[in-house]
Amino acid sequence: MNALLEVENATMRFGGLVALNDISFSVGRGEVLAVIGPNGAGKSTLFNVVTGVYRPTSGRVRFDGSDITGHPAHDVVARGVGRTFQTSRLFSDLSVLDNVIIGMHTRTGTGVLGALFLPGASRREMAACVEKAEALLKAGSGDLFEQRYRLAGTLAQADRRRLEIARALASEPKLLLLDEPSVGMDEIETDALIADIARLKRERADLSVILIEHDMRVVEAFPHQVICIDYGSKIAEGDFAAVKADPRVQEAYLGK
Ligand code: ADP
Ligand code: MG
Repeated sequence: MNALLEVENATMRFGGLVALNDISFSVGRGEVLAVIGPNGAGKSTLFNVVTGVYRPTSGRVRFDGSDITGHPAHDVVARGVGRTFQTSRLFSDLSVLDNVIIGMHTRTGTGVLGALFLPGASRREMAACVEKAEALLKAGSGDLFEQRYRLAGTLAQADRRRLEIARALASEPKLLLLDEPSVGMDEIETDALIADIARLKRERADLSVILIEHDMRVVEAFPHQVICIDYGSKIAEGDFAAVKADPRVQEAYLGK
């Protein structure tokens, strides 16, 4: 079994609060895993444990053949894990284009300034960076490319979410983690998001995705595994129909 990501018995405590309780799952190369569960269930904490924002209190995280438990976030990005955040972490005072370029250099670890302004960086290398960033802005729904010189802080909410995805992709991840990408999107924008993820998967069959979502239309659109977390514990897993029908899942959602 050659999973790209394996989380084994991960537990994360914050003082007396058990935010993750002995969670195990794996994601294969090219797979899409959806993580659902009520507010406060531990979904974002799971991303933080995978990406090295937190070291789990116990348990292991393995990625692409290496144990990366507790590795610093920049190392996890460099190994090929890209993510977006539930609450946007864009650089509001930088342009849309610069936000994507920064995403690229998160991967190389040299930092955007180092990469762009090193004495050795040639004009040609800089032009290649800009070209690649522009291609990412053209690829998704919306008109981010036309807005590339705007300050990211002035974008509409849906465009901010799209920009987060473009920036995460700039690091050329093997695994893309999306934390509630449809938050703040209306129905039409959400449909466009579904189409964006579907296109991405068509273009990069080997890209693995973990999607935290509250909008069941987005979850349903991808015929892969779903896990449901409640109070930090995995309470169900399987395909969407099976998880949705699970009485524990229904109770978890009704109880809130
Ligand atoms: P979800 O993303 O499923 O809504 P979170 O992972 O954000 O849930 O949070 C799970 C629980 O862990 C919540 O009770 C939250 O308050 C708590 N939590 C998350 N991060 C921290 C932290 N850094 N310190 C203390 N408690 C935290
Ligand atoms: Mg969350």
